[in-house]
Amino acid sequence: MRFVCDEMLKRLGQWLRVAGHDVLILPDGSDDRELLERARVEQRLLLSSDRRLAEHRHARDLLVLLDCQGLDDCVAALARHLDVDWLLRPFSRCMACNTPLRDATADERGRVPDAARALASTVRYCPHCERLYWDGSHVARMRERLAHWQQLHTPRRR
Ligand SMILES: [Zn+2]
Repeated sequence: MRFVCDEMLKRLGQWLRVAGHDVLILPDGSDDRELLERARVEQRLLLSSDRRLAEHRHARDLLVLLDCQGLDDCVAALARHLDVDWLLRPFSRCMACNTPLRDATADERGRVPDAARALASTVRYCPHCERLYWDGSHVARMRERLAHWQQLHTPRRR
């Protein structure tokens, strides 16, 4: 499943990336037509909380309209429309820019703070925005959150 979302659902979009989904996030002020066009051309589902979008002629098969406030609420709203796999491939994609991550080289690992590097078993690197991701307590908490959503919203897969 590939997605495009607008800035209003940015956090949801970033968490879908954390789970491993391909999510394009378009900036605020993107025109409705552009959102729909990107969704159609790139075969993405459009996630939006903008009711006006539903009025567009071509929106029907592309749009998942989410009426939600806050992250957990949006995750629940999405689950009412789609069976999202929250444990697809956690931490395989850059949360900031959507690029698939690769293992960091020795040089890149060197940029991780010493204390964190000593504990990290894996360090991943985004070749586009050069962010580094390493496992630690923060990542462990994020994984727990994904597992929680998976359990809460996809009973069929348990
Ligand atoms: Zn990146």
